[in-house]
Amino acid sequence: MSSAEDNGFRQRELVAQIQHRLLERLAETGAQYQGMIEGLREVVLCANASGQLLFLNTAWSRILGHDVDESLGQNIEEFVIPDDVTRIHQLVVALERDEDFEFGEVYSFISVSGQIKRLMVAGRGHRGDNAIVTFRDVTDNERLRGALSAATVALRKQVELLAEQRRHTSLTLEGVSDGILLVDKKNRVYFANHAAREMLSLENGGQEQGGIRLEEVLRGAGLTEALLQCAGRASELVDRDWVLGNEGAVVLHVSTTRTLDEAGCEAGHIITLRDVTKERGVDRMKSDFVASCSHELRTPLTSIMGFAQRLASNADLSPDQRDQCLEVILSQSERLRSLIDGLLDLSRIDSGEFGINPTIVRVGDMLIGCLEDVETFSATAGVQIGLEMNLDQTTAVLDSKLTALAVDNLLRNAIKFSDSGQSVLLRASREGGELLLSVRDEGMGIPEEHLGQIFDRFFRVPRPDKEIQGTGFGLAIVREVAERHGGHVSVKSKPYCGSTFTLHLQA
Ligand code: ADP
Repeated sequence: MSSAEDNGFRQRELVAQIQHRLLERLAETGAQYQGMIEGLREVVLCANASGQLLFLNTAWSRILGHDVDESLGQNIEEFVIPDDVTRIHQLVVALERDEDFEFGEVYSFISVSGQIKRLMVAGRGHRGDNAIVTFRDVTDNERLRGALSAATVALRKQVELLAEQRRHTSLTLEGVSDGILLVDKKNRVYFANHAAREMLSLENGGQEQGGIRLEEVLRGAGLTEALLQCAGRASELVDRDWVLGNEGAVVLHVSTTRTLDEAGCEAGHIITLRDVTKERGVDRMKSDFVASCSHELRTPLTSIMGFAQRLASNADLSPDQRDQCLEVILSQSERLRSLIDGLLDLSRIDSGEFGINPTIVRVGDMLIGCLEDVETFSATAGVQIGLEMNLDQTTAVLDSKLTALAVDNLLRNAIKFSDSGQSVLLRASREGGELLLSVRDEGMGIPEEHLGQIFDRFFRVPRPDKEIQGTGFGLAIVREVAERHGGHVSVKSKPYCGSTFTLHLQA
């Protein structure tokens, strides 16, 4: 072999060796890339411009279960749910336009077992290239997101419901007539309703940061004792009356209830304040009533017994003396009867049993009857009684028994609160559609501060200088009778100048 032939041979061998090494290297690198691609969690997919699958890594079969080799050559549209076919087709068409592209959207694919898998399809490509896209399984994420948004909706609803409940509770508490203070474990008032704010003269209901200290709230109201019991020894429950101001101007009933948290531990307490001034006043008036009522009943009874004994033990009484005894017994029995009637009337009015029974009544006749009924009483008191009316032939539709009862009460009061020698005038007139029946006296009158109370049951104007018997239900009956006739009763009075009571009746 010549040296030139030898050289040529060596060079060819060298080229063949280099080629072989390059091919080996290429195969090695290809295998490395293949390995990397196969190791990815995402599907790597290469499709031509019609959507035909050209390459798939094994993630395709891991996620969807389809065999990679069987899937190659098929169209990508065959693997999505019917609803997504149009969208994926539009994607393929967009890719066919041979433009630069970049996208990322979620599509629903069907796995071999028929499960729906949500895959995020993302890709990036350049003009003229086959589309290479990756598919990431976001099924769990999507499920989580769905669950999260459902939970968010449920939570929002819950929050709205709680806010609504809170609004209702606070509106309810605000509307309650009892004062309510909600106090925490540290004795700070974090809520005071409208009634409590009014009773304790608080400017706001504990809305300020951290609430108001209970001591301050109660001290402001002068509830010093309550302060000691409620604030000092919060665990001790309170249930009693507190008198605020002088002379029992306001009586508050204070009670406390413990509040517990979810774990059953003491979380604070609720203080309820009830203004019982009126109730306590009524209680006091009732006991006064029982006392004066017993006195009223005992007086005629004593007199009846005394005269009956005189009759029984003195056989030698003259006919005049016997008549005198019998007369007293009769009049005192009458007094007893009227007292008991009054009590019964009052209890019937209370029970609503006393219905109104209107008939056509001659007003003049009725009033003369009333005057006759009180004749003895006025004569005994030395009080002159008169009638002034131009209605003697006038009729009215009213309950004569009830109206006479009211006039009788007014006349007896007028006589009772007059001095001997003074006079009482009963007047009747018509004004507008009303029948006015008034009783005027020149007696001791009523101080202005009591005018608002005299129609309350059991109320009697305190008269320390003069003891006048009574029960405190006469004017209550008068008011009731007026109201049952669709009217009302009015009073004008001045101490030592007399009083005028007027029944305004729709009759
Ligand atoms: P009583 O049985 O005490 O008369 P009433 O209900 O009839 O009860 O009256 C309530 C109070 O109103 C009386 O106690 C009295 O102080 C006052 N009063 C009623 N009528 C008169 C009057 N004509 N003059 C002065 N005071 C009166």
